[in-house]
Amino acid sequence: MTAPSPRTLRAVVIEDDAVFRHLLVLAMNKVPGLQVVGQFELGVPSLEFCRQEAPDVAVIDLHLPDINGMEIVREIRHTLPATKILVITGSASDRLPANLLALGVNGYVNKSESTELMVHAVETVCSGGLLFATKARGTHLPQLATEVLPTAVAGALDDEQRQAVLESPREKRLEALAAALARPEPEVLEKLAAAAGLDVASNLETDPEARGLLPPRLVHDYQIIPIRRAPEGSSPPVPVPLTALPLHLATAWLPDRTMADWVRTFTPRPLAWHLAVPERIHQLIIENFGVGSGSLDDSDDTYVAPEAQKEAEEVVDEDAAVVRFVTDVISQAIVDQATDIHFEPQEGQLRIRYRVDGLLVPVPVPENLLRFQDAIISRLKIMARMNISEKRLPQDGRINFKASGVVLDIRVSTVPTIYAESISLRLLNQKKEAYSMDRLGMSQAEQLQITNILDYPHGIILVTGPTGSGKSTSLNAFLRKINSTDLRIITIEDPIEYEVPGVNQMQVRPEIGLTFADALRHVLRQDPDVIMVGEIRDKDTAEIAIRASLTGHLVFSTLHTNDAPGAITRLVDMGIEPFLVASAIELVIAQRLVRRLCTECTRPSPIARVKLQENLAILGCDPQEAEGIEQLKAPVGCDRCRGTGYRGRIGIFEIFRLNEEMHQLVLQRESTRTLADCARRHGMRTLGQSGWEKVKNGSTTFDEVLRVITVTEK
Ligand SMILES: [Zn+2]
Repeated sequence: MTAPSPRTLRAVVIEDDAVFRHLLVLAMNKVPGLQVVGQFELGVPSLEFCRQEAPDVAVIDLHLPDINGMEIVREIRHTLPATKILVITGSASDRLPANLLALGVNGYVNKSESTELMVHAVETVCSGGLLFATKARGTHLPQLATEVLPTAVAGALDDEQRQAVLESPREKRLEALAAALARPEPEVLEKLAAAAGLDVASNLETDPEARGLLPPRLVHDYQIIPIRRAPEGSSPPVPVPLTALPLHLATAWLPDRTMADWVRTFTPRPLAWHLAVPERIHQLIIENFGVGSGSLDDSDDTYVAPEAQKEAEEVVDEDAAVVRFVTDVISQAIVDQATDIHFEPQEGQLRIRYRVDGLLVPVPVPENLLRFQDAIISRLKIMARMNISEKRLPQDGRINFKASGVVLDIRVSTVPTIYAESISLRLLNQKKEAYSMDRLGMSQAEQLQITNILDYPHGIILVTGPTGSGKSTSLNAFLRKINSTDLRIITIEDPIEYEVPGVNQMQVRPEIGLTFADALRHVLRQDPDVIMVGEIRDKDTAEIAIRASLTGHLVFSTLHTNDAPGAITRLVDMGIEPFLVASAIELVIAQRLVRRLCTECTRPSPIARVKLQENLAILGCDPQEAEGIEQLKAPVGCDRCRGTGYRGRIGIFEIFRLNEEMHQLVLQRESTRTLADCARRHGMRTLGQSGWEKVKNGSTTFDEVLRVITVTEK
């Protein structure tokens, strides 16, 4: 004979706060032998339900939109004497528990208590006990780190600063706190952790076994990630059940109660919190769950995001998810300082890649992304005001992107590929940090060579290099250097990448006939002293620019050539008279951007003499330079640089100045090579030599220099 299975206790939850109700129901349904059979946000229908169903347990909030919860308590106690009543309320009156007890209520828990305690209360009440947990008495459960700032840290801030920190999103709070304290972030992180009794976890590794425990949405919202930690001490003789193993979570900010409650609804494992560098956590979340996976999360619908509180009951439709996803992908690109985003439909997947620091970086995407491919493509086309029904022809469009305080102009183009339309986004006027010539990585000698010419009243200064070599960044630094109230500066750009206060900036619009050449013609009638022309693409523009420089204007522009002397021959090839080129061009700067070694983690690494000499030869440097060098800085990778070993970029430069001898060579239409040889004889340092300088002083690596130098432009 088998023992009769114990009857399942039927519970009803009456609570108007949707999130809280949801949380409670989830937690209660995990109690063995208990089942929530009804949940209500209003009191009247709940009473009706109770009269008919006679639940075993009623969990009641006293503050309801339609009737006072006390009425429900009285009514249930009166008509259903066997039903256990647990009151859960945010009300803080001291007399309340006593009054409730007098009314025959079986339990009372303040809403601010943890879910664990609530479930404990439900269990106690169900088994016939009484549990009155008031906030004043506290609980037997360990307190979490306080939601507000630990006193040790809070004391150093005024009210306004404190508020600013706490109002920032979780992942930005450390940054805000560091700014308020005027201390470096790593130091503040340590301090915060110490004050809250937590540790700072470094070298984060995600825990692959725990990855699936939490829904991506929750992970995104709270910026927490399960990490792997070595168990403390020796392994226990008896195997510990998995559910007893602590779940290690790295978080960008001190854990708070709501967050902990949410996590506990998904796992029974004890939680061990660690603080970690917010950027690293964000990076790991993206690596493990994909960009925007929080938006496209369809794996677990039990978790309700905080922003959905007011409409928790409304099903978030797929369209909204796609809109949010696309916004997430663009927002992440902005954070990563990407210049381009590519949506590339492939066989069986939609690949997304960013171009960051000149390199393509695959973006980890949610596993279910393909399902949304068509919707994503349509969404992008709608944003760019394209014809969404046209899928066979390439289209161009623009998006004016506004999100979280960022306004961005994005150029969008589509091309049909065999799987679907491939969409590329070029992020324009990314709010870039304006670089000074120092920040560009120019040596004092290089700066001097350039600033001398910047003082000239006329002439042309050209910056050359392939796309993405930082040409406009340099021109911008020059503009800032000479910018003053007694100069009238006009720029003609496509696009306007930086705004420079006091400078008149114009955007060309070839689609309505405003080309570089056209714009330049008009600008000359505007009495400028200095003109910057974004790019010399054709003979027209070249001719007007040269004429402008010869009639007393200083002209800055760019050209696509590999090296500096090549700019001269390019202009001659365009059909400009060599004597005009030779008399107008004052200076040509060829440049490339290389990634800068992360100063936090780079370490010297030995290099073999043979290898070093080989590299020097490729860069066109004297192999003798290898003498006495046994080690060079190498990339390592840390949390600060997202494990890449590099952070930011610096320029390498080749500065070409025509002298009398070269002047003659130009008139004789000599080749670029002859010009370059002559320039080198007169002391011009080539890109390769400039690169070697930066390798030698530990700013970058041979790999980087070789990568950018071997890129050649048509
Ligand atoms: Zn690093």
